[in-house]
Amino acid sequence: MHSDLDRILVPGRDIEAKVAELGWKISRDYAGKQLLTVGILKGSTIFMADLVRAISIPVSFDFMAVASYGLSSSSSGVVRILKDLDESIEGQDVLLIEDIVDTGLTLNYLLETLRTRNPASLRVCVLLDKPNRRRVEVPIDYPGFVIPDEFVVGYGLDYGGRYRNLPDVWVLKPEVYGKKNSEFRIQNSE
Ligand code: 5GP
Ligand code: MG
Ligand code: MG
Repeated sequence: MHSDLDRILVPGRDIEAKVAELGWKISRDYAGKQLLTVGILKGSTIFMADLVRAISIPVSFDFMAVASYGLSSSSSGVVRILKDLDESIEGQDVLLIEDIVDTGLTLNYLLETLRTRNPASLRVCVLLDKPNRRRVEVPIDYPGFVIPDEFVVGYGLDYGGRYRNLPDVWVLKPEVYGKKNSEFRIQNSE
């Protein structure tokens, strides 16, 4: 067992059931269309890999990599794009896929940026939602789990690049990240 981990918050079997439900809803809502899923690297990769296999309509994917900009412990909400989309999204039905929404600043910035590129539609699917720390309202069309304000890892989410491969979502022991939690986040790509 990893000594940095406190307890399982969302077991892999619950994630599996939620992914199946989300995939079903998405397939129903986009019936007759084709979907472009945009994953935000690196945290969304495991979720996206499972989710697209639960979707029964034609799907293509693209990815973006972003890092929050600035070093202060409260993020400015300006996001630096480390890797942009490979293709134009103009006229396409786009589903943004994120691992977790905390303050909402990252997602808000991404939505504003992508809207300017004139997709036919733009919706959001997020595995984990921490509403307690929200600083800006963001629409979540396909939410997974609402979780308390604790730092979590696993199923794509990392601490210092580790733990992404865990099949369950775990709470990291608070003493591991201490007060550096928010600083840590914004110095690292998502
Ligand atoms: P926001 O801009 O919504 O504050 O932050 C979103 C990003 O912060 C996420 O994509 C993720 O990279 C990081 N983040 C927020 N909360 C957590 C958490 O509990 N665990 C991990 N591993 N990353 C988090
Ligand atoms: Mg991270
Ligand atoms: Mg993310």
